[in-house]
Amino acid sequence: MSSAIVVGAGVFGAATARELALRGWDVTLVEQYSPGTVRSASGGDTRLSRAGHGDADWYAEMARAARTKWLELQDTTGTRIWEPIGVAWFARSEDGFEARSRASLDRLGVPYEWLEPEEARSLYPSLNPDGIAAVLFEPEAGVLRARRATQLLVEDGERAGVRSESGRLLPADDPRADVVVWACGPWLAALFPEHVELKVTRRDVFFFGADAAWRDAPGFCEYEAPYYGHGELDGLGVKVAPDLAGEEVDPDTLDRLPLRSWEEAARTYAAYRFPALAGAPIVGTRVCQYDLSADTHFIVDRHPERDSWWLIGGGSGHGFKHGPAFAEYVADCIEGRREREPFHALGTRSGDAGLRTASHG
Ligand SMILES: Cc1cc2nc3c(=O)[nH]c(=O)nc-3n(C[C@H](O)[C@H](O)[C@H](O)COP(=O)(O)OP(=O)(O)OC[C@H]3O[C@@H](n4cnc5c(N)ncnc54)[C@H](O)[C@@H]3O)c2cc1C
Repeated sequence: MSSAIVVGAGVFGAATARELALRGWDVTLVEQYSPGTVRSASGGDTRLSRAGHGDADWYAEMARAARTKWLELQDTTGTRIWEPIGVAWFARSEDGFEARSRASLDRLGVPYEWLEPEEARSLYPSLNPDGIAAVLFEPEAGVLRARRATQLLVEDGERAGVRSESGRLLPADDPRADVVVWACGPWLAALFPEHVELKVTRRDVFFFGADAAWRDAPGFCEYEAPYYGHGELDGLGVKVAPDLAGEEVDPDTLDRLPLRSWEEAARTYAAYRFPALAGAPIVGTRVCQYDLSADTHFIVDRHPERDSWWLIGGGSGHGFKHGPAFAEYVADCIEGRREREPFHALGTRSGDAGLRTASHG
């Protein structure tokens, strides 16, 4: 039996450990805090799952495959991790990211609606359509309960034989197994500074107290703004998150208290786009961090000097939804069943594929 050590129990590591165990590998999963820790990117309350990725069909297909796998995990474990509320993209032009996404969804046969701004009013208790040229609505998109879903992957992996261990494993510890997968999210660049280029930047997320009419209102993304969020879910409030550039942070030492400037930005956007939220109280906040590759493509590659080590990460603010399908791809690469895509290689990247829910920042 082949053996693997997977370092990091975020969504990428937890899903990869589980996938390898299901394929018959002897797997140890090592986590420095707790699976789903709020210090990790996977430890958020909620994450949007959508198929639209501009013209990047590869990610759209993976998001669809992952959606099926998340729903299977929900069914087999009887744990509700998915809310089928749909996601609306507020397009500021008729030929931007949303139009490219629409063409991609056509190619892949993914259902969507292309709405006039006035038609989209019915999706939310209150919507100001000013500045919106069209709305791309994905009815099969939804929201994942991220922290719970990450922990569920770990629990389900353990049922498949994964051994979970606590501890911080470093390259200098020279862990020995047939394969070592470093799935360390924003910590990856500090562990492998010579090979991994990632910017670790803060993101402040706000939940607004709203009335019951907001329950299960769809997710939304305004790519050119850039802001995203969703309606009231689990009593958390209406999520509104600025997706603008944030300062670089250390995920171990960061005080997770929101900044006044981000709070003002979220309040201003919420009041403008959803007028009923003007004056609504903020009832919850989260401070998390992205691990941004320069071009927003993920990282999946062998360590240049250690053939049995794989470095995976660079979720770049859009990795969560892909978790279980990404793990299948990673396991295929490890087993030599598939070539890793050239756009996932280590090394310097240029350009910006714009794969997260923002055109810039
Ligand atoms: C605010 C915010 C909003 C987002 N919104 C979305 C969204 O709507 N949709 C979406 O799809 N994605 C979204 N993302 C991105 C998504 O959450 C991430 O891409 C994904 O969770 C990354 O998972 P990961 O496993 O690579 O990293 P992480 O979740 O950060 O996990 C890494 C784990 O490795 C552990 N670790 C690190 N180093 C070591 C070590 N040396 N030894 C042991 N353990 C170690 C850490 O403690 C951590 O648990 C968002 C991210 C943020 C921050």
